[in-house]
Amino acid sequence: MEFCPKCGSLLVPVSSEGKTYLVCRKCGYKKEASSKKGYMVRGEVTEDKKEKLLVVEGIRNREKEKIEEEREIIKEYYEVFLESMESEEE
Ligand SMILES: [Zn+2]
Repeated sequence: MEFCPKCGSLLVPVSSEGKTYLVCRKCGYKKEASSKKGYMVRGEVTEDKKEKLLVVEGIRNREKEKIEEEREIIKEYYEVFLESMESEEE
């Protein structure tokens, strides 16, 4: 934990353009975080994102299965439709 040298408020880690900065919410003071601390912060963020991604992917997979199932049904309908069209022409 680091504090603002100007006003003494807690510096909040903010990721920007692949770098981690420590930003003071009170006065706007900003400094680049040391690499060690930066990695620590990024590691935490990545774990959090990973969990969220897994949840999103789980939902997507279920939706994908549903869509594929619907596609099969549509395909069957379409084939039946084509068959009836053909028989009408005859
Ligand atoms: Zn400050």
